[in-house]
Amino acid sequence: MQGLMQNQPLLISSMIEFAAHYHGTTEVVSRRVEGDIHRTTWAAVRQRSKQLAQALDALGLPQGARVASIAWNGYRHLEMYYGVSGSGRVLHTINPRLHFEQVAWIVNHAEDEVLCFDLSFLPLVQAVYRLCPTVKQWVALCDADKLPADSGIPGLVSYEAWIAAHDGRYHWPQFDENTASSLCYTSGTTGHPKGALYSHRSSTLHAYAAALPDSMGLSARDVILPVVPMFHVNAWGIPYTAAQVGAKLVLPGPALDGKSLYELMEAEGVTFAAGVPTIWQMLLSHVQPQQLRFSSLKRTVIGGAACPPAMIAAFEDDFGVQVLHAWGMTETSPLGAVCTFKAGQMALPKEEQRKISAKQGRAIYGVEMKIVGGDGRDQPWDGKTYGDLLVRGPWILQQYYKGESPLVVDEAGLGWLPTGDVATIDADGFMQITDRSKDVIKSGGEWISSIDIENIAMGHPAVAMAACVGMAHPKWDERPIVVVATKPGASVTREELLAFYEGKLAKWQIPDDVVFVDAIPLGATGKMLKTKLREVLVGYQLPDLR
Ligand code: ADP
Repeated sequence: MQGLMQNQPLLISSMIEFAAHYHGTTEVVSRRVEGDIHRTTWAAVRQRSKQLAQALDALGLPQGARVASIAWNGYRHLEMYYGVSGSGRVLHTINPRLHFEQVAWIVNHAEDEVLCFDLSFLPLVQAVYRLCPTVKQWVALCDADKLPADSGIPGLVSYEAWIAAHDGRYHWPQFDENTASSLCYTSGTTGHPKGALYSHRSSTLHAYAAALPDSMGLSARDVILPVVPMFHVNAWGIPYTAAQVGAKLVLPGPALDGKSLYELMEAEGVTFAAGVPTIWQMLLSHVQPQQLRFSSLKRTVIGGAACPPAMIAAFEDDFGVQVLHAWGMTETSPLGAVCTFKAGQMALPKEEQRKISAKQGRAIYGVEMKIVGGDGRDQPWDGKTYGDLLVRGPWILQQYYKGESPLVVDEAGLGWLPTGDVATIDADGFMQITDRSKDVIKSGGEWISSIDIENIAMGHPAVAMAACVGMAHPKWDERPIVVVATKPGASVTREELLAFYEGKLAKWQIPDDVVFVDAIPLGATGKMLKTKLREVLVGYQLPDLR
């Protein structure tokens, strides 16, 4: 027997309709590439998204066609989120920090037909346009009078002139909710990037789940600053969630340094921010020495890489800002787990609570998780035994775009996505990432967590950033060393830092050496790039092998 409720497809257009109807005057504030602050509203975002949809219709672009963006977080990019997907095309967000050959590779793989870019990426587009024969319309996300006259890019139009030709009187098409809505490629640190193709259904459900109190806990009373880029995993779905809950949205554009972010937060009354640890490290380095205060910021979700406990402590103890540690990946839309306490944990001593906060958290409804051993069998949830982390759910990838399905099938016939992460899960269901499987250090038959080693180093007051890598060793297989960048004006010796580990780790887990560098190389999404670091370490010898 079928249920008798309205079978309305979950479509991205319904989110912008909701935001415009019920929160039409709520602001969307952007720092533009030009440097100024631009203010608009959800109602105006809907109007202009519809104009964009009409412009795509006028090009004769069919449903399912890919429309690419190379852009910072800003209102025009937001209009693309709704205008492109809402009209049935697929928004392909491109990471501008990729090498230009990789950008060309993914444009060709996706067969993008339109490509819209912020003017700061003009040199990148000039480098790739000849390599991208599928693109028939290049659009600069700028005013008509800012369009570069001699860009060399054939048929380049300004976004403003392009959409101004249309009146916004447009009805969003209705279609199957499983239709593709957006496409994001993994950064491809090994081999070619792979495309995660999200659907209207997966994006809508993910946005619902992200808003829940035990996820990001967002509401119409929030002012949200996604520092996490809209070119990577849809800025963790925040552009959708913000519309679903009718929150004010603040988009930081290209200015991601600590000072600019702090000033924007204060000026706009930001209550909630989201980003990777390296971004928050920069923010803390700006506010701590000057003893600045956050007057409105209440919570921040930190994920994409392990959040060091020292950072959680700094935000909570020094600034009264709650940290939500979260885990996810491009293939999981990205939200999989968020660390929020259960009722019984609220009364625990602070030290115990801190241990929990360092974990990546509990699965949110919609995501099933398990850890398995090398034989594929479930590992116990005791907080100690680790295994490969597997996930499944309606916003978890089934198959790569034009690629293979990475899923493994269990005895019940259910497909699970191997995450490539090694984790423990405790009896309360709190998952903790030990490492990416390729970063795990194997020493004398035991595994050492590089994240533990990094977290401890980051707890030293002189350390700005720390990365742990395993170096080959004839007797032990591998031994860990820690590569450290110190804070400006601060110093610590090798011996002091090694002594800092004593009592915090078993003796055999303590790194063999400390290597000091000016800066830890960061990848395209602001995460530490261990592959690059290994290049820096070519020729390095462990102390007992010298
Ligand atoms: P890429 O880094 O390849 O672009 P993603 O952005 O999808 O890919 O990164 C996903 C990976 O980032 C996860 O598999 C995990 O290794 C790591 N990650 C994400 N969040 C966390 C976290 N809170 N703690 C530790 N690692 C994390």
